[in-house]
Amino acid sequence: MECRHGMTVNEVTPSARGCEECLKIGSEWLHLRLCRACGHVGCCDQSPHRHATAHFHATRHPIIEGYDPPEGWGWCYVDEVVVDLPDQTPQLGPIPRYY
Ligand SMILES: [Zn+2]
Ligand SMILES: [Zn+2]
Ligand SMILES: [Zn+2]
Repeated sequence: MECRHGMTVNEVTPSARGCEECLKIGSEWLHLRLCRACGHVGCCDQSPHRHATAHFHATRHPIIEGYDPPEGWGWCYVDEVVVDLPDQTPQLGPIPRYY
């Protein structure tokens, strides 16, 4: 399937240095995902709270970027395909790791 959500990809400023919600509740995450529509930083589906997927369900923002190594790849939640991003969002500085 082809992804037609390229217009939702913006240049964004990451909302936090780690998963926004996990940092608030003191939880842990495995990997980080950056929303390329609004800059929300959330955690991956292997993390206990899956905040990136929750953000997609709440906002329907379709495209995320891998935000820790190997970073820079894109994924569309709607089409469930890997997407080529036009650029890679620079990280906001040292990202705390909890695993
Ligand atoms: Zn798509
Ligand atoms: Zn989280
Ligand atoms: Zn978003």
